[in-house]
Amino acid sequence: MEAIVKLSLVWMLVASLVDAAPTDSDQENRQYSLVRAFPDTRSQVDFLHKQRYQKKAGIEFWKPADWPGRHTDIWVSNATQKPFTDLLKKQNIFYKVRVNNWNVSDEEVIMENIDHFDRKYQSFEEITSELKRLAKGYSEKVNLFEIGKSYYNKSIYGIQILKQSAKKKPLIFFMCGIHGREWLAIASCMYVVRMMIFNDEYENDLQIITNHFEVVFVPVLNPDGYIHTGSKGGRFWRKTRSKTRDKSCPGVDLNRNFSFRWGGGGASIDICDETYCGPRPFSERESRAIASYLYKRRNDLTVFVDVHTYGQLLSHPWGFTRQSSFHQQRQRNVLGNIARRIFHATGKHYNYGQTSSILYETAGDSTDWVYGFLGVVHSYGVELMPRLTDRRSLAGFRQHKKNIIPSGRVLFIVLNELAKNSLTELDLTS
Ligand SMILES: [Zn+2]
Repeated sequence: MEAIVKLSLVWMLVASLVDAAPTDSDQENRQYSLVRAFPDTRSQVDFLHKQRYQKKAGIEFWKPADWPGRHTDIWVSNATQKPFTDLLKKQNIFYKVRVNNWNVSDEEVIMENIDHFDRKYQSFEEITSELKRLAKGYSEKVNLFEIGKSYYNKSIYGIQILKQSAKKKPLIFFMCGIHGREWLAIASCMYVVRMMIFNDEYENDLQIITNHFEVVFVPVLNPDGYIHTGSKGGRFWRKTRSKTRDKSCPGVDLNRNFSFRWGGGGASIDICDETYCGPRPFSERESRAIASYLYKRRNDLTVFVDVHTYGQLLSHPWGFTRQSSFHQQRQRNVLGNIARRIFHATGKHYNYGQTSSILYETAGDSTDWVYGFLGVVHSYGVELMPRLTDRRSLAGFRQHKKNIIPSGRVLFIVLNELAKNSLTELDLTS
Protein backbone atom coordinates (compact mmCIF):
# COMPACT_ATOMS: atom_id res chain seq x y z
CA MET A 1 0.00 0.00 0.00
CA GLU A 2 2.76 2.40 0.99
CA ALA A 3 4.56 1.74 -2.23
CA ILE A 4 1.46 2.77 -4.11
CA VAL A 5 1.18 6.00 -2.21
CA LYS A 6 4.85 6.72 -2.87
CA LEU A 7 4.52 6.00 -6.55
CA SER A 8 1.43 8.10 -6.75
CA LEU A 9 3.43 10.95 -5.31
CA VAL A 10 6.14 10.34 -7.87
CA TRP A 11 3.53 10.40 -10.55
CA MET A 12 1.95 13.58 -9.24
CA LEU A 13 5.39 15.13 -9.40
CA VAL A 14 5.86 13.93 -12.96
CA ALA A 15 2.38 15.12 -13.80
CA SER A 16 2.99 18.53 -12.36
CA LEU A 17 6.27 18.77 -14.26
CA VAL A 18 4.52 17.87 -17.45
CA ASP A 19 1.80 20.30 -16.62
CA ALA A 20 4.11 23.15 -15.69
CA ALA A 21 6.76 22.73 -18.33
CA PRO A 22 6.32 24.95 -21.35
CA THR A 23 5.06 22.63 -24.03
CA ASP A 24 7.61 21.74 -26.65
CA SER A 25 5.10 22.53 -29.27
CA ASP A 26 1.37 22.38 -29.78
CA GLN A 27 2.13 19.70 -32.26
CA GLU A 28 3.42 17.34 -29.62
CA ASN A 29 0.41 17.97 -27.42
CA ARG A 30 -1.90 16.91 -30.18
CA GLN A 31 -0.06 13.68 -30.77
CA TYR A 32 -1.17 10.77 -28.72
CA SER A 33 -0.35 7.13 -28.29
CA LEU A 34 -2.44 4.30 -27.09
CA VAL A 35 -0.81 2.27 -24.34
CA ARG A 36 -2.25 -1.06 -23.36
CA ALA A 37 -1.27 -2.12 -19.83
CA PHE A 38 -1.67 -5.58 -18.31
CA PRO A 39 -1.96 -5.44 -14.50
CA ASP A 40 -1.46 -8.82 -12.85
CA THR A 41 -2.06 -8.07 -9.21
CA ARG A 42 -4.61 -6.15 -7.20
CA SER A 43 -2.01 -3.56 -6.18
CA GLN A 44 -1.10 -2.97 -9.83
CA VAL A 45 -4.79 -2.47 -10.59
CA ASP A 46 -5.06 -0.02 -7.71
CA PHE A 47 -2.03 1.82 -8.95
CA LEU A 48 -3.51 2.21 -12.42
CA HIS A 49 -6.88 3.13 -11.01
CA LYS A 50 -5.31 6.01 -9.11
CA GLN A 51 -3.93 7.46 -12.33
CA ARG A 52 -7.25 7.89 -14.02
CA TYR A 53 -8.17 11.20 -12.44
CA GLN A 54 -5.12 12.98 -13.76
CA LYS A 55 -6.51 13.97 -17.11
CA LYS A 56 -4.69 17.29 -17.03
CA ALA A 57 -1.42 15.46 -17.29
CA GLY A 58 -2.44 14.18 -20.69
CA ILE A 59 -3.62 10.68 -19.88
CA GLU A 60 -7.07 9.32 -20.42
CA PHE A 61 -8.23 5.87 -19.53
CA TRP A 62 -10.30 4.45 -22.35
CA LYS A 63 -10.86 1.30 -20.48
CA PRO A 64 -10.76 1.47 -16.70
CA ALA A 65 -8.38 -0.72 -14.76
CA ASP A 66 -10.69 -2.99 -12.87
CA TRP A 67 -9.28 -6.37 -12.01
CA PRO A 68 -6.08 -8.37 -12.38
CA GLY A 69 -5.67 -10.17 -15.67
CA ARG A 70 -7.70 -7.63 -17.65
CA HIS A 71 -5.88 -5.14 -19.78
CA THR A 72 -6.55 -1.45 -19.72
CA ASP A 73 -6.18 1.02 -22.60
CA ILE A 74 -4.69 4.39 -21.89
CA TRP A 75 -4.59 7.30 -24.28
CA VAL A 76 -1.40 9.25 -23.53
CA SER A 77 -0.09 12.48 -25.00
CA ASN A 78 3.36 12.20 -26.50
CA ALA A 79 4.78 14.53 -23.88
CA THR A 80 3.57 12.21 -21.14
CA GLN A 81 4.28 8.87 -22.71
CA LYS A 82 7.84 8.41 -21.50
CA PRO A 83 7.33 9.36 -17.82
CA PHE A 84 4.16 7.31 -17.79
CA THR A 85 5.66 4.16 -19.24
CA ASP A 86 8.67 4.56 -16.92
CA LEU A 87 6.24 4.43 -14.03
CA LEU A 88 4.64 1.30 -15.43
CA LYS A 89 8.10 -0.28 -15.67
CA LYS A 90 8.84 0.59 -12.04
CA GLN A 91 5.60 -1.07 -11.04
CA ASN A 92 6.49 -4.13 -13.13
CA ILE A 93 3.34 -3.64 -15.14
CA PHE A 94 3.70 -5.14 -18.57
CA TYR A 95 2.54 -2.82 -21.36
CA LYS A 96 2.54 -2.38 -25.10
CA VAL A 97 2.30 0.80 -27.12
CA ARG A 98 -0.49 -0.06 -29.49
CA VAL A 99 -0.70 3.10 -31.56
CA ASN A 100 2.02 5.70 -31.95
CA ASN A 101 1.81 9.40 -32.75
CA TRP A 102 -1.86 9.66 -33.36
CA ASN A 103 -2.82 13.11 -34.57
CA VAL A 104 -6.09 14.23 -33.17
CA SER A 105 -8.03 17.42 -33.45
CA ASP A 106 -8.88 19.46 -30.37
CA GLU A 107 -12.46 18.25 -30.45
CA GLU A 108 -11.29 14.70 -30.15
CA VAL A 109 -8.90 15.44 -27.31
CA ILE A 110 -11.67 16.73 -25.09
CA MET A 111 -13.97 13.85 -25.84
CA GLU A 112 -15.33 12.19 -22.79
CA ASN A 113 -13.32 9.70 -20.93
CA ILE A 114 -15.46 6.66 -21.35
CA ASP A 115 -14.86 3.12 -22.18
CA HIS A 116 -14.82 1.74 -25.68
CA PHE A 117 -17.70 -0.53 -24.87
CA ASP A 118 -20.41 2.06 -25.49
CA ARG A 119 -18.84 3.25 -28.70
CA LYS A 120 -20.13 0.39 -30.76
CA TYR A 121 -22.86 -2.22 -30.85
CA GLN A 122 -21.64 -5.34 -29.08
CA SER A 123 -22.37 -8.93 -30.01
CA PHE A 124 -24.25 -11.25 -27.68
CA GLU A 125 -20.96 -12.91 -26.70
CA GLU A 126 -19.31 -9.58 -25.99
CA ILE A 127 -22.22 -8.49 -23.82
CA THR A 128 -22.16 -11.78 -21.94
CA SER A 129 -18.45 -11.59 -21.23
CA GLU A 130 -18.79 -7.98 -20.12
CA LEU A 131 -21.56 -8.98 -17.69
CA LYS A 132 -19.38 -11.78 -16.31
CA ARG A 133 -16.45 -9.41 -15.96
CA LEU A 134 -18.59 -6.91 -14.05
CA ALA A 135 -19.91 -9.61 -11.74
CA LYS A 136 -16.40 -10.82 -10.99
CA GLY A 137 -14.80 -7.41 -10.62
CA TYR A 138 -17.55 -5.82 -8.51
CA SER A 139 -18.82 -8.80 -6.60
CA GLU A 140 -19.59 -6.65 -3.55
CA LYS A 141 -22.49 -4.97 -5.34
CA VAL A 142 -23.16 -6.94 -8.51
CA ASN A 143 -24.74 -10.34 -8.90
CA LEU A 144 -25.15 -12.04 -12.26
CA PHE A 145 -27.74 -14.77 -12.56
CA GLU A 146 -29.42 -16.80 -15.24
CA ILE A 147 -33.12 -16.08 -15.59
CA GLY A 148 -33.57 -18.89 -18.06
CA LYS A 149 -32.53 -20.12 -21.49
CA SER A 150 -33.55 -19.22 -25.00
CA TYR A 151 -34.93 -21.69 -27.51
CA TYR A 152 -31.38 -22.33 -28.75
CA ASN A 153 -30.08 -22.67 -25.19
CA LYS A 154 -28.43 -19.29 -24.81
CA SER A 155 -28.41 -17.97 -21.26
CA ILE A 156 -30.71 -15.06 -20.54
CA TYR A 157 -28.87 -13.10 -17.88
CA GLY A 158 -30.14 -10.80 -15.22
CA ILE A 159 -27.70 -8.47 -13.52
CA GLN A 160 -28.60 -7.33 -10.05
CA ILE A 161 -27.11 -4.17 -8.59
CA LEU A 162 -27.59 -4.30 -4.87
CA LYS A 163 -25.57 -2.77 -2.08
CA GLN A 164 -25.35 -5.19 0.80
CA SER A 165 -27.85 -4.40 3.48
CA ALA A 166 -29.88 -6.38 5.92
CA LYS A 167 -33.02 -4.60 4.82
CA LYS A 168 -35.01 -5.91 1.89
CA LYS A 169 -35.23 -3.28 -0.79
CA PRO A 170 -37.92 -2.57 -3.37
CA LEU A 171 -37.08 -3.85 -6.84
CA ILE A 172 -36.73 -1.75 -9.98
CA PHE A 173 -36.62 -3.97 -13.04
CA PHE A 174 -35.52 -3.02 -16.57
CA MET A 175 -35.52 -5.36 -19.53
CA CYS A 176 -34.19 -4.75 -23.04
CA GLY A 177 -33.87 -6.63 -26.27
CA ILE A 178 -37.26 -8.37 -26.24
CA HIS A 179 -37.09 -7.68 -29.97
CA GLY A 180 -33.90 -8.80 -31.71
CA ARG A 181 -33.46 -5.86 -34.06
CA GLU A 182 -33.62 -3.17 -31.37
CA TRP A 183 -29.89 -2.81 -30.98
CA LEU A 184 -30.00 0.67 -29.51
CA ALA A 185 -32.24 -0.55 -26.66
CA ILE A 186 -29.75 -3.26 -25.73
CA ALA A 187 -26.75 -0.94 -25.97
CA SER A 188 -28.48 1.76 -23.90
CA CYS A 189 -29.33 -0.78 -21.22
CA MET A 190 -25.68 -1.81 -21.03
CA TYR A 191 -24.68 1.84 -20.79
CA VAL A 192 -26.87 2.30 -17.71
CA VAL A 193 -25.68 -0.96 -16.13
CA ARG A 194 -22.02 -0.04 -16.51
CA MET A 195 -22.54 3.56 -15.56
CA MET A 196 -24.30 2.53 -12.35
CA ILE A 197 -21.49 0.16 -11.43
CA PHE A 198 -18.57 2.43 -12.26
CA ASN A 199 -19.89 5.76 -11.00
CA ASP A 200 -21.66 4.75 -7.86
CA GLU A 201 -19.17 6.37 -5.55
CA TYR A 202 -19.15 9.69 -7.32
CA GLU A 203 -22.72 10.52 -8.24
CA ASN A 204 -25.30 11.62 -5.78
CA ASP A 205 -28.32 10.56 -7.84
CA LEU A 206 -26.90 7.11 -8.23
CA GLN A 207 -26.21 6.73 -4.55
CA ILE A 208 -29.80 7.55 -3.75
CA ILE A 209 -30.94 4.81 -6.12
CA THR A 210 -28.52 2.17 -4.89
CA ASN A 211 -29.09 3.01 -1.23
CA HIS A 212 -32.82 2.48 -1.46
CA PHE A 213 -33.46 0.02 -4.26
CA GLU A 214 -32.38 -3.22 -5.76
CA VAL A 215 -32.05 -2.70 -9.51
CA VAL A 216 -32.14 -5.61 -11.95
CA PHE A 217 -31.49 -5.39 -15.68
CA VAL A 218 -32.03 -8.04 -18.30
CA PRO A 219 -30.03 -6.57 -21.18
CA VAL A 220 -30.85 -9.20 -23.82
CA LEU A 221 -34.14 -10.98 -23.33
CA ASN A 222 -34.18 -12.51 -26.78
CA PRO A 223 -30.63 -13.79 -27.44
CA ASP A 224 -31.57 -15.96 -30.43
CA GLY A 225 -33.29 -13.04 -32.14
CA TYR A 226 -30.43 -10.68 -31.39
CA ILE A 227 -27.82 -13.13 -32.65
CA HIS A 228 -29.86 -13.64 -35.80
CA THR A 229 -29.81 -9.89 -36.51
CA GLY A 230 -26.06 -10.18 -36.92
CA SER A 231 -26.41 -12.73 -39.70
CA LYS A 232 -26.71 -12.07 -43.38
CA GLY A 233 -30.18 -10.80 -44.23
CA GLY A 234 -31.31 -11.03 -40.60
CA ARG A 235 -30.77 -7.45 -39.40
CA PHE A 236 -34.45 -6.64 -38.92
CA TRP A 237 -35.52 -9.81 -37.15
CA ARG A 238 -37.99 -9.10 -34.33
CA LYS A 239 -39.28 -12.41 -33.00
CA THR A 240 -37.73 -15.41 -31.29
CA ARG A 241 -36.24 -18.18 -33.46
CA SER A 242 -38.33 -21.11 -32.23
CA LYS A 243 -39.67 -23.64 -34.74
CA THR A 244 -43.29 -23.21 -35.80
CA ARG A 245 -45.64 -25.25 -37.97
CA ASP A 246 -44.42 -23.24 -40.94
CA LYS A 247 -40.78 -23.99 -41.68
CA SER A 248 -40.29 -20.74 -43.57
CA CYS A 249 -41.63 -18.64 -40.67
CA PRO A 250 -39.90 -19.40 -37.37
CA GLY A 251 -40.39 -17.40 -34.20
CA VAL A 252 -43.00 -15.73 -32.04
CA ASP A 253 -43.34 -12.10 -31.00
CA LEU A 254 -42.43 -12.25 -27.30
CA ASN A 255 -44.23 -9.00 -26.70
CA ARG A 256 -47.53 -10.62 -27.68
CA ASN A 257 -46.86 -13.88 -25.89
CA PHE A 258 -47.69 -12.88 -22.27
CA SER A 259 -50.87 -14.34 -20.85
CA PHE A 260 -52.82 -11.21 -19.95
CA ARG A 261 -55.58 -10.76 -22.60
CA TRP A 262 -53.45 -12.90 -24.91
CA GLY A 263 -54.51 -12.93 -28.55
CA GLY A 264 -56.51 -9.68 -28.39
CA GLY A 265 -56.13 -6.47 -30.43
CA GLY A 266 -52.76 -5.98 -32.09
CA ALA A 267 -51.77 -9.65 -31.86
CA SER A 268 -51.70 -11.83 -34.95
CA ILE A 269 -52.48 -15.51 -35.25
CA ASP A 270 -50.75 -15.65 -38.61
CA ILE A 271 -47.49 -17.52 -38.04
CA CYS A 272 -45.60 -15.41 -40.55
CA ASP A 273 -46.63 -12.03 -39.11
CA GLU A 274 -44.21 -9.87 -37.14
CA THR A 275 -46.71 -9.80 -34.27
CA TYR A 276 -47.52 -13.52 -34.20
CA CYS A 277 -48.60 -14.23 -30.60
CA GLY A 278 -47.63 -17.91 -30.60
CA PRO A 279 -49.76 -21.06 -30.34
CA ARG A 280 -50.61 -20.33 -26.68
CA PRO A 281 -49.69 -17.83 -23.93
CA PHE A 282 -46.11 -18.29 -22.77
CA SER A 283 -45.35 -20.76 -25.53
CA GLU A 284 -41.81 -19.30 -25.60
CA ARG A 285 -39.04 -20.16 -23.17
CA GLU A 286 -37.97 -16.52 -23.02
CA SER A 287 -41.33 -15.05 -21.97
CA ARG A 288 -41.88 -17.93 -19.55
CA ALA A 289 -38.51 -17.35 -17.94
CA ILE A 290 -39.04 -13.65 -17.40
CA ALA A 291 -42.62 -14.10 -16.20
CA SER A 292 -41.73 -16.73 -13.63
CA TYR A 293 -38.90 -14.55 -12.30
CA LEU A 294 -41.19 -11.52 -12.01
CA TYR A 295 -43.92 -13.63 -10.44
CA LYS A 296 -41.51 -14.87 -7.78
CA ARG A 297 -40.45 -11.30 -7.08
CA ARG A 298 -43.94 -9.78 -7.29
CA ASN A 299 -43.97 -8.57 -3.68
CA ASP A 300 -40.74 -6.59 -4.16
CA LEU A 301 -41.44 -5.39 -7.69
CA THR A 302 -42.08 -1.65 -7.61
CA VAL A 303 -41.15 -0.49 -11.09
CA PHE A 304 -41.09 -2.43 -14.35
CA VAL A 305 -39.72 -0.99 -17.61
CA ASP A 306 -39.57 -2.68 -21.00
CA VAL A 307 -37.13 -0.85 -23.29
CA HIS A 308 -37.55 -0.78 -27.08
CA THR A 309 -36.74 1.24 -30.14
CA TYR A 310 -38.15 3.28 -31.73
CA GLY A 311 -40.58 6.18 -31.62
CA GLN A 312 -39.32 8.37 -28.73
CA LEU A 313 -42.26 7.45 -26.55
CA LEU A 314 -43.06 6.62 -22.96
CA SER A 315 -46.09 4.42 -22.53
CA HIS A 316 -48.28 2.95 -19.81
CA PRO A 317 -50.92 0.19 -19.99
CA TRP A 318 -53.26 -0.70 -21.44
CA GLY A 319 -51.98 -2.12 -24.66
CA PHE A 320 -54.85 -4.52 -25.28
CA THR A 321 -57.64 -1.95 -25.25
CA ARG A 322 -58.25 1.73 -25.87
CA GLN A 323 -60.12 1.97 -22.58
CA SER A 324 -58.23 3.84 -19.87
CA SER A 325 -56.20 1.97 -17.29
CA PHE A 326 -57.37 2.08 -13.68
CA HIS A 327 -54.44 4.29 -12.69
CA GLN A 328 -54.28 6.43 -15.77
CA GLN A 329 -53.81 9.76 -14.02
CA ARG A 330 -51.05 8.50 -11.76
CA GLN A 331 -49.22 6.79 -14.62
CA ARG A 332 -49.57 9.84 -16.87
CA ASN A 333 -48.19 12.12 -14.19
CA VAL A 334 -45.11 9.95 -13.75
CA LEU A 335 -44.47 9.73 -17.50
CA GLY A 336 -45.08 13.47 -17.93
CA ASN A 337 -42.44 14.22 -15.32
CA ILE A 338 -39.97 11.93 -17.04
CA ALA A 339 -40.65 13.51 -20.44
CA ARG A 340 -40.06 16.98 -19.00
CA ARG A 341 -36.83 15.88 -17.33
CA ILE A 342 -35.59 14.36 -20.57
CA PHE A 343 -36.42 17.50 -22.49
CA HIS A 344 -34.76 19.69 -19.90
CA ALA A 345 -31.58 17.60 -19.87
CA THR A 346 -31.25 16.68 -23.54
CA GLY A 347 -33.63 18.84 -25.59
CA LYS A 348 -35.33 15.70 -26.89
CA HIS A 349 -39.11 15.48 -27.06
CA TYR A 350 -40.56 12.28 -25.69
CA ASN A 351 -44.26 11.81 -26.29
CA TYR A 352 -46.16 9.91 -23.61
CA GLY A 353 -49.50 8.25 -23.02
CA GLN A 354 -51.37 4.98 -23.08
CA THR A 355 -49.78 2.34 -25.33
CA SER A 356 -52.92 1.64 -27.34
CA SER A 357 -53.37 5.32 -28.18
CA ILE A 358 -49.85 6.61 -28.77
CA LEU A 359 -48.56 3.43 -30.40
CA TYR A 360 -51.05 0.75 -31.37
CA GLU A 361 -52.86 -2.14 -29.71
CA THR A 362 -50.50 -4.69 -28.24
CA ALA A 363 -52.49 -7.42 -26.48
CA GLY A 364 -50.28 -9.94 -24.68
CA ASP A 365 -47.45 -7.48 -24.08
CA SER A 366 -45.19 -7.46 -21.04
CA THR A 367 -46.36 -4.18 -19.49
CA ASP A 368 -50.05 -5.21 -19.53
CA TRP A 369 -49.15 -8.49 -17.82
CA VAL A 370 -47.09 -6.81 -15.10
CA TYR A 371 -49.84 -4.26 -14.48
CA GLY A 372 -52.91 -6.42 -15.03
CA PHE A 373 -51.70 -9.70 -13.57
CA LEU A 374 -49.05 -8.73 -11.02
CA GLY A 375 -50.76 -5.48 -10.07
CA VAL A 376 -47.70 -3.26 -10.39
CA VAL A 377 -48.92 0.25 -11.20
CA HIS A 378 -45.58 1.53 -12.45
CA SER A 379 -45.29 -0.71 -15.47
CA TYR A 380 -44.00 1.20 -18.46
CA GLY A 381 -42.67 0.91 -21.97
CA VAL A 382 -39.89 3.09 -23.37
CA GLU A 383 -39.31 3.53 -27.08
CA LEU A 384 -35.95 5.19 -27.60
CA MET A 385 -35.00 7.39 -30.57
CA PRO A 386 -35.77 8.31 -33.30
CA ARG A 387 -39.18 9.98 -33.32
CA LEU A 388 -41.61 8.55 -35.79
CA THR A 389 -41.76 11.89 -37.60
CA ASP A 390 -38.03 12.53 -37.45
CA ARG A 391 -35.84 12.57 -40.53
CA ARG A 392 -33.75 9.93 -38.77
CA SER A 393 -36.74 7.64 -38.53
CA LEU A 394 -35.88 6.67 -42.09
CA ALA A 395 -33.00 4.76 -40.58
CA GLY A 396 -35.39 3.20 -38.02
CA PHE A 397 -33.60 0.48 -36.11
CA ARG A 398 -30.31 1.26 -37.83
CA GLN A 399 -29.15 4.11 -35.64
CA HIS A 400 -25.53 5.19 -35.77
CA LYS A 401 -23.41 3.96 -32.88
CA LYS A 402 -22.81 7.57 -31.79
CA ASN A 403 -26.41 7.54 -30.53
CA ILE A 404 -25.69 4.87 -27.92
CA ILE A 405 -24.41 7.18 -25.20
CA PRO A 406 -27.11 9.89 -25.60
CA SER A 407 -29.80 7.20 -25.55
CA GLY A 408 -28.18 5.56 -22.54
CA ARG A 409 -28.38 8.90 -20.77
CA VAL A 410 -32.07 9.19 -21.58
CA LEU A 411 -32.60 5.75 -20.12
CA PHE A 412 -30.75 6.73 -16.99
CA ILE A 413 -33.06 9.74 -16.60
CA VAL A 414 -36.01 7.35 -16.86
CA LEU A 415 -34.54 5.17 -14.10
CA ASN A 416 -33.67 8.14 -11.94
CA GLU A 417 -37.11 9.74 -12.18
CA LEU A 418 -38.90 6.46 -11.51
CA ALA A 419 -36.72 5.85 -8.47
CA LYS A 420 -37.41 9.35 -7.16
CA ASN A 421 -41.11 8.86 -7.63
CA SER A 422 -41.06 5.56 -5.75
CA LEU A 423 -38.97 7.10 -3.03
CA THR A 424 -41.76 9.59 -2.35
CA GLU A 425 -44.57 7.08 -2.78
CA LEU A 426 -43.00 4.50 -0.50
CA ASP A 427 -41.87 7.22 1.86
CA LEU A 428 -38.27 6.04 1.84
CA THR A 429 -36.82 9.54 1.93
CA SER A 430 -35.46 9.23 5.47
ZN1 LIG B 1 -39.91 -3.57 -29.66
